[in-house]
Amino acid sequence: ALSLGCSTAKQNTAAFTKERQLPIDRRVDSVLALMTLEEKVGQMNQYNGFWDVTGPAPQGGDAALKYEHLKKGWVGSMLNVKGVKDVRALQKIAVEETRLHIPVIFGFDVIHGYKTISPIPLAEAASWDMEIIERSAQIAAAEAAASGLNWTFAPMVDVSRDARWGRVMEGAGEDPYLNSRIAVARVKGFQGNLGEFNVAACVKHFAGYSFAEAGRDYNTVDISNNTLHNIVLPPFKAASDAGALTFMNSFNELEGIPATGNAYLQRDILKRDWGFKGFVVSDWGSMGEMVTHGYTKDLKEAAEKAANAGSDMDMESHGYVEHLAALVREGKVSEDKINDAARRILSVKFELGLFDDPYKYCNEAREQQTIGKKEFQDGVLDVAKKSIVLLKNERSLLPLKKQGQKITVIGALANDKTSPLGSWRIAAEDGTAVSVLEGLNQYKGNTITYAKGADVAVGKTLFGSETKINTTDKSGFAEAVAAAKNADVVVMVLGEHGLQTGEGRSRAKLDLPGVQQELLEAVYKVNQNIVLVLQNGRPLTIPWAAENVPAIVEGWHLGTQSGNAIAQVLYGDYNPSGKLPMSFPRSIGQVPLYYNHKSTGRPGGDTPTESVFWSHYGDEANSALYPFGHGLSYSKFEYSNLKLSGSSFGKNGNITVSVDVKNNSTVDGKEVVQLYLHDLFASVTRPVKELKAFELAEIKAGQTKTITFTINEKAIEFYTANNKWEAEAGDFKVFVGGSSVTKLEVPFSYTN
Ligand code: BGC
Repeated sequence: ALSLGCSTAKQNTAAFTKERQLPIDRRVDSVLALMTLEEKVGQMNQYNGFWDVTGPAPQGGDAALKYEHLKKGWVGSMLNVKGVKDVRALQKIAVEETRLHIPVIFGFDVIHGYKTISPIPLAEAASWDMEIIERSAQIAAAEAAASGLNWTFAPMVDVSRDARWGRVMEGAGEDPYLNSRIAVARVKGFQGNLGEFNVAACVKHFAGYSFAEAGRDYNTVDISNNTLHNIVLPPFKAASDAGALTFMNSFNELEGIPATGNAYLQRDILKRDWGFKGFVVSDWGSMGEMVTHGYTKDLKEAAEKAANAGSDMDMESHGYVEHLAALVREGKVSEDKINDAARRILSVKFELGLFDDPYKYCNEAREQQTIGKKEFQDGVLDVAKKSIVLLKNERSLLPLKKQGQKITVIGALANDKTSPLGSWRIAAEDGTAVSVLEGLNQYKGNTITYAKGADVAVGKTLFGSETKINTTDKSGFAEAVAAAKNADVVVMVLGEHGLQTGEGRSRAKLDLPGVQQELLEAVYKVNQNIVLVLQNGRPLTIPWAAENVPAIVEGWHLGTQSGNAIAQVLYGDYNPSGKLPMSFPRSIGQVPLYYNHKSTGRPGGDTPTESVFWSHYGDEANSALYPFGHGLSYSKFEYSNLKLSGSSFGKNGNITVSVDVKNNSTVDGKEVVQLYLHDLFASVTRPVKELKAFELAEIKAGQTKTITFTINEKAIEFYTANNKWEAEAGDFKVFVGGSSVTKLEVPFSYTN
């Protein structure tokens, strides 16, 4: 066995380093062998940053208790500590003052950038570009690692069907396949080869969180096992297979059992069936919330249930640190389970190299050189451009002419340098985004006038202050209308403030908040040449704009380089190629609205039939305003000649799909060619359409490209009535097109 009982951290580190060539499980064994029960439980305890390291050590209260625990080796991890100086100061206590000198792992919500901010994840998903999404995660990881961090609480891979839920901004939208592909890209980007510019990923929230009833955050989740396996779990599985080092469980209950105490999810599915070797951290205080859920009597019982269910680390409930050792002594939790959890946590620390050099991330010079680098700014600009979706473009309003135009820019968001950073960017300073106005002003050939018009209403914010709610002030309308009157083009930047989305920021309405809709209509009365640029963190209901405004650009919350990206797209210096990762409803009553729904057994659709018994609303269409996968380009793409290499395939076989895509325009462009399948009948009913493949094709002006895809068993497998992933014999349809509303289809069958 290795001896780690050194008296000083220096010797200790040397001992760890000397044994570096040994396999990680042997190194973990050697550490575990030296640990007391309390020290093992300590590894399972995570605290929020509690001490301003520039001041004296905390005296009294919660902070002092945490400080004492840290010195005893009872803190395995901390979150929300950032910056080399602070991380080093706390790590120093762990490695120098504790008995075994085990380093702490520092976690942080690096969701879409650390200081240099990328588009919100939902926006990035609209790029359908795995390379750029991976690059974006790399940039975030590099800055975070340079700032002393080891671990990000991302990616969130919750498949989101309900736009009311504020956290749709944090995921990749409504489709399990797109979510899976993006989950893998993000895990790869964050973790890379676990080098000095990487951090461990944390796949969250396991599982079902996005299905909160009525889209209200933290609300009850009640979904079928079928939906769990076919819709919710695939991205988690993909991320686990891609080597994600950690998972986070979730606040919600599932089948009446809170996720944190859910053994089916954590032990059976994740650790047994998927063979996941990393550790599971609880969500913030979610262990304690098992009491308020009405699932456990008190925190002690919550700790028992969580530990037995396979939650390895407790984020800020204090349940483990206070009760777990006693629960082991009382025989309520086996020591094996504690060993397993501690082993998982220590393994990740070894994988990250923290035992080799606990300060490996702590270097001020590197921190200074890395954060905000030019190449990172260029990188987030690139991803921002690629995330923009052109929803509508009539009367050739876009791209804007570069010379001799009078352009009026309207909207509080147009001049906002904070909102575009979006939600979940807690390390970035306010005011660090390029505004749309700044972006447009870089083009000197036109005359630009700005009028605010109206403020954006900001709802209650979870972490920030509470600002204007439901702003009704219309005093700026007159100025905006006057400025719009004589303009050649009016660019209106409307939508949601960055902090109107995110955790705890659900909405019961999906319209343009405040008086923005009225402002839009007032301006339209005097000038119809409106380019509407939306900035928002979720699908919005904008039926009036879709009907009347000639050009609509989905500009999300695009991060630090937001205004530059939008200006380049408006001026045609970048030809937009984004496609929606979530359906835009026509009205709130349609929600949850998603393209991959089941058939009702009744006819349904937007055109009334004679039957009154069809599945419809009396006052609204069934279809989306803008469907999943929709997005235009300044090029014009035409699809034809959809063909299959055969009419069926069997076990271990496959079939090739080909389609011709013509760029029938004078500008080079990129098109996301999308392939969907429909499994016509099965042991459990299947969605009417499911995305199974896509390709981001660059097609030159006038050029026709033949795009091919291969369909094999993998593409038609699903969680069947046998409670297994398998391919069932049957008839299928394949659809290919530029959105989920496709025109071309061909049938095939599968025989096994
Ligand atoms: C969120 C998590 C987040 C954690 C730590 C929780 O409230 O649900 O996604 O990682 O806080 O900040």
